[in-house]
Amino acid sequence: MAQIGLAGENRVLTANVIHDLAHFAGRGGLGAVMGAKRLKAVSARAHKETLPAYHDPGLLKELARRMAKERMERAAGLVTMGTVGTVKPFNLRGVLPSHNFLDGFLEGAEALDGTSLDALGIRIGRDTCYACAIRCKQVVKIEGTGKYDVRPEYGGPEYEGLGALGSTCGVTDPYAVTKANTLCNQYGLDVIGVGVTIACAMEAVEKGYLDDEGLGLRFGNGDALVAAIEKLARREGRLGELLAFGAKRLAESLGHPELAMHVKGQEVPMHDPRYKRALGVGYAVSPTGADHNHNLHDTAFAKEGRALRELRFYGEDFQPLPTEDLSEAKIRMLWTKTRERGFVNSLVMCDFVPWTPEEWREALYAATGWRLSPEEMLEVGERTLQLTRLFNLREGISPEEDRLPERFFQPFRKGNPEARLDPEAFREGVRAYRRLAGWEGGVDPERLKALGLEEFQNALA
Ligand code: SF4
Repeated sequence: MAQIGLAGENRVLTANVIHDLAHFAGRGGLGAVMGAKRLKAVSARAHKETLPAYHDPGLLKELARRMAKERMERAAGLVTMGTVGTVKPFNLRGVLPSHNFLDGFLEGAEALDGTSLDALGIRIGRDTCYACAIRCKQVVKIEGTGKYDVRPEYGGPEYEGLGALGSTCGVTDPYAVTKANTLCNQYGLDVIGVGVTIACAMEAVEKGYLDDEGLGLRFGNGDALVAAIEKLARREGRLGELLAFGAKRLAESLGHPELAMHVKGQEVPMHDPRYKRALGVGYAVSPTGADHNHNLHDTAFAKEGRALRELRFYGEDFQPLPTEDLSEAKIRMLWTKTRERGFVNSLVMCDFVPWTPEEWREALYAATGWRLSPEEMLEVGERTLQLTRLFNLREGISPEEDRLPERFFQPFRKGNPEARLDPEAFREGVRAYRRLAGWEGGVDPERLKALGLEEFQNALA
């Protein structure tokens, strides 16, 4: 079952698509698309006799058993804590998005970390997506507070929710942030989009650009955060209406576009490009705007290890590069990684399950009988990139939009002083990526031809 909530019905632009109450197709506003079509839910049931047979079911079972057996060796952090254990380390490093990305450090943010949620008894268990051995998802419950009580069935906050609704809004009260996250889940809202939009509104209120209608919508106010989500989901009053259209439109309507932390209208996730710099280039060139999933996290490639070994599967002898590096070699890593992510997304497999590229290839073979070479795997991913780039061009999203908010070229007010993004190095990174992708002026027809996509050059132009 895929359904929308109240936010999708109200065509809120940060509305998402919900599966089984606690699983979300979170980003891109697809809930608003369903709402605009008055499509509440899609339900499908498979009957065994109508399903196509797997090519090699024994091999599929063997792969699943291997992951279940080796999950601790491969993904101990995800198995034991999930993503919620990263708030504290990011804050200590001075790169935790705080106060609408003005700061990289927030006093008291450790109260939002998973260890704190455990100590307070907020985090009561773990959940899993269908048949996944990793079980990285959170279950939370709050009772007896009245205003912040939450029920466990809507799922709990992950790192992105704790950062976007917590530190980015300057809120360090774990009860308020858990409540805010649960409301987003109940109403079918993208926690990143909502948190960064409300942080933008808080800054606008503090600077005197926006009337908060008596809400007290200022950094650090957990009650106002929760009340703002109610208004946003219902599009209630002028404030709710403004919040419902996301950070970009909110800031533009106030005459202060510089307050919106977005790329191509999509709010920036909780990984700051002043720290992860190739990821910043990835945000800028992504056809779907700021996205941390089909991207390269520089920190994983700074020293020899699993991430680099797996990237070499595709044929290039990649070597460790510092987190701050933005050389052509780093951008080549980004280009390979974004194509790989496109391939894995096409398999509809989770980013977090630590399959190796060889195992993805085996899984595809076991299911379909198709044996792809590493280059063919990247080509599958590249097709998704090229088609979405063509779609954007047709819809008027020009290459000029391959950029980051100006704030990311300024140092943090408070945070890691070495976290800086040099504008020229960044622009060269974008140019290097476009050269690799064939995006210097439109989309290279030769690349489309090599990928078997030449028919779309005219269909989408
Ligand atoms: S690793 Fe992925 S598939 Fe498994 S429980 Fe976590 S999010 Fe779901």
